[in-house]
Amino acid sequence: MSRLWDTFSALTAIDSPSFEERELCDALKQRLDALGVQTFEDDAGARLDGNSGNLYGFLPGDAPLPPLLFSAHMDTVEPGRGKRAILQADGRITSAGDTVLGADDVAGIAILLEALARLTEGGTTCRPLELLFPVAEERYGLGSARADYGRIRAKEAYTLDLSGAIGEAAGAAPTLFSFEVTVTGKASHAGFAPRDGIHAIAAASKAVARIPLGEPEPGVTVNIGRISGGEADNIVPALCKVSGEIRSLSHHLVLEQWERIQAVFEEEAQAAGARAAAHGRVEITAYETPPDSPAVRRFERACRQAGVPARIHATLGGSDANNFALHGIQNLVLACSMHQVHSVREYARLDELEQGVQLVLALMTDDAP
Ligand SMILES: [Zn+2]
Repeated sequence: MSRLWDTFSALTAIDSPSFEERELCDALKQRLDALGVQTFEDDAGARLDGNSGNLYGFLPGDAPLPPLLFSAHMDTVEPGRGKRAILQADGRITSAGDTVLGADDVAGIAILLEALARLTEGGTTCRPLELLFPVAEERYGLGSARADYGRIRAKEAYTLDLSGAIGEAAGAAPTLFSFEVTVTGKASHAGFAPRDGIHAIAAASKAVARIPLGEPEPGVTVNIGRISGGEADNIVPALCKVSGEIRSLSHHLVLEQWERIQAVFEEEAQAAGARAAAHGRVEITAYETPPDSPAVRRFERACRQAGVPARIHATLGGSDANNFALHGIQNLVLACSMHQVHSVREYARLDELEQGVQLVLALMTDDAP
């Protein structure tokens, strides 16, 4: 457990914001080399304008079974520079209070490294293991979207990247769709010639007022998060930009909502004599791992062995697992001791990290095909 703490604190001390994962990638490579894990780095760094690619690890194993993939992402959110892990008297690991801790996702990385160390030291028989440490997960999984899936043979994956108690897992995740609508009217002096203008903000506002925000139908959320427009208080605004997101576990319900939103903007723009240009993008695609799939059954066995209750649910957050699913890899996202993530109050627990190691070891040594 002291080695687990050493690994966790050493890796969280490395700055690794999205697109700046170089130093962490090098440190990981070194540690994997020492464990006899063969590594490979792809060219996602160059393609994403970052300084590191996705890192892969391969352990051939000695059991003639299909490989399993384990994954944890290398990047962290901001404020994430100068992070320092502090072990509190109650067993919590916190930051110094001015940065995130980076347990998202160093907790996952530390658990995987410790499990691999115990496996190789103990000379334990295991199946072939594949590892993927993506960059830029926090940017809609851009790194894993560009991973080289030709190098991955596994059809089953465990992604360590979830809040909650050890034993919790996400077996379904949503489609996340982001959109931006630009309403273009016509500028005019608000005092001298107000009637010559077409008020883009007014037209956009009417549209926004008609869009049901929140949860317009069960299982679908819609948000408009930003609105901007106008140049000066004495000018009828010619431009208004509105952006937001839609998410749902059902991909087609997301697309239906988007159709409706576009129609509303078009109607209101037209009524005002303005134009609406709408752009939407699927950031991540929904998946669901069936409850009777090998991945779920293996996870339930491993939880029993590790002495933690298995609790599988859906999440409304995306992760690299969405991209794995797109490439035909069935997977679960596992809780790995990260709490209040994306905040300076983020914390992990040493006892949970140890439970995570037990769970991952049980998965790695499970001998069912
Ligand atoms: Zn994460």
